[in-house]
Parts: sequence; structure tokens; C-alpha cells
Amino acid sequence: MSHHLDYRLLREKMVQNQLIARGIRDERVLAAMRKVPRDRFVEEALVGEAYNDHPLPIGHQQTISQPYMVALMTEALELQGEEKVLEIGTGCGYQTAILAEASYKVYTVERIRPLMVKARNILAELGHKNILFKAFDGTLGWKEYAPFDAIVVTAGAPKLPQPLFDQLAEGGRLIIPIGNRFSQELFRVTRRKGASITKSLGGCRFVNLIGVHGWKEQPGPS
Ligand code: SAH
Repeated sequence: MSHHLDYRLLREKMVQNQLIARGIRDERVLAAMRKVPRDRFVEEALVGEAYNDHPLPIGHQQTISQPYMVALMTEALELQGEEKVLEIGTGCGYQTAILAEASYKVYTVERIRPLMVKARNILAELGHKNILFKAFDGTLGWKEYAPFDAIVVTAGAPKLPQPLFDQLAEGGRLIIPIGNRFSQELFRVTRRKGASITKSLGGCRFVNLIGVHGWKEQPGPS
């Protein structure tokens, strides 16, 4: 029996029990989550947990988000397949792959270079050709390629970073967790005639967004 088939079955179960059962309906998102091998994005020792209903550590004190959270955020971007998408917080690159399946082109920014390099390697191995990577402070956005039709921030912010709103196209959607360092509320911000329309998507917990328009880095344990 091949692992390939095992994982396909686990993915289908994940889609049914964690996503569809909780109200994820977007076929583009569901198809991407049936297809992308989440097991390839987690550490060897954790592959057995790759399709479980929770986040997992990916090194550097960061985490791969829970499958449902990835689906919820991606669905809220309302992708049709033609969009330019900016992702802040590449992490292991799993959500990057989901976004790349559901849109035209993904621009992804990660502040921890080794994570970016690892994600870039895996995504190349998996054959994704519509992704551009940058190791940088994503709270500043990625000006050269703005405006973006959709922006997703996968780390918790103290407030909406102004450069990200400035780089959002007219009619564009921005998904971001905002709150304190320990818990946040997920928001969708839509840009209409330069103004913002904001909707709450519920409570969540993300690692800190660290940067000029985010949190200050915490001094590590000595
Ligand atoms: N979508 C990713 C989530 C990783 S956790 C996944 O599922 O793997 C959030 C990531 O945001 C971390 O890798 C962290 O290093 C990164 N991050 C935090 N602040 C950032 C910033 N200002 N710019 C870019 N990346 C940032």
C-alpha cells in the first residue's frame, strides 16, 4: 500500500470533517486542499499529525496554521483564479500552495530567511511556478508589484499595517488577525473608493506579526 494513497484519504477526511462540516463551501478552496500534500510541509517527526485538526510547530518558534484556518482565510479572499495575491508570513509554504492553486500569481513575504528558503524549495519540488518569494518585513508590503487583488496576513497584528491597505486594489480583500500578542480577531477589510469596509470573521490565535508596522521582537530567553 502506498503512502500516496494513504495521504489522499487523509486529505479527503480532512476536507469532509474539518472544512465542509464547518461551513467551507468554496469549491476552489476545497479542490486545492484535496490536492496539496500538507504532509510535505511538516517536519519528518510530525508527518503522522499533518492532517490533524490543529497547528503544528515548523521551527524558529513558528507554526503551520490549522487546516480550517487556512481554508477560512483563503475562502474569505473570494478568489476566482485571476488574482494577484500578496501573502505575509510564508512560514512552511502550505497556505502559499493553496493560494497558488486558487489564483493567478502569489507574492509571498517571510521575515525568517531559512523558512522562506525551505518553503521555496518544497514549492519548486511540487511544481508551483506562479509564486515569487522575498525575505523581508512584510508589514511594508511589496511595493514593486502593488496593487494586489487580495492580501492575506498569516500572523497576528496590533493594527492594520497602513502600507498593506495602500497596496490593496480597488475592490480588493485583505484578511488579517488583529488583537493582542496572545489572541486576535480575524478581519476582512474590503477597499471601496479608497475607504475600507471591515467585517469580523471570529476569534483566532496566531504567532506575532513582527515588523515596522507590527509588534516589536520580544527579547528571547537568556
Ligand atoms: N501560513 C503559514 C503561517 C506561518 S506562521 C503556514 O501555514 O506555515 C506566520 C509566519 O509569519 C511566521 O513564519 C513568521 O516568521 C512570519 N512573520 C511574522 N512577522 C512577519 C513579517 N513582518 N513579515 C513577514 N513574515 C512575518
